Amino acid sequence: MTTKNALNTLLDYGIHPSVQRIAIMDYLLKHHTHPTVDEVYVALHKEIPTLSKTTVYNTLRLFSEHGAAQMLTIDERKVCFDGDVTPHAHFMCKKCGRVFDLHLEDSFLQTIRPNVSEGFEVDEAHLYFKGTCKACAELKDC
Ligand SMILES: [Zn+2]
Ligand SMILES: [Zn+2]
Repeated sequence: MTTKNALNTLLDYGIHPSVQRIAIMDYLLKHHTHPTVDEVYVALHKEIPTLSKTTVYNTLRLFSEHGAAQMLTIDERKVCFDGDVTPHAHFMCKKCGRVFDLHLEDSFLQTIRPNVSEGFEVDEAHLYFKGTCKACAELKDC
């Protein structure tokens, strides 16, 4: 049951589960589209009429502070969130604005990993690429 996964995820990251938090985490775990606050709000507010945009925003920030979600600032006008916290890079299409996952070879991640023994403790890493996605590139060719 996916609700249980969302609940377990919250508990694993030491986040006190509430109905709203479980619903928001569940949405993130089911949608790998890197939704914005607005998108999560629009998707959930029918189910949970008491949900406000501020709550969605605060909840998503809380998730990212606890490491349960990634906050992506690839587009400074449109912060978006990712329930996948494994190291991966992101690609933003400058035409349609969609954000895609780019999976990197482990060897690449090793290469760029800063030397922890020098005293840097890395909590998060963000690697962004921008360009034109496949669908938009094909449209242009027509
Ligand atoms: Zn595109
Ligand atoms: Zn992602």
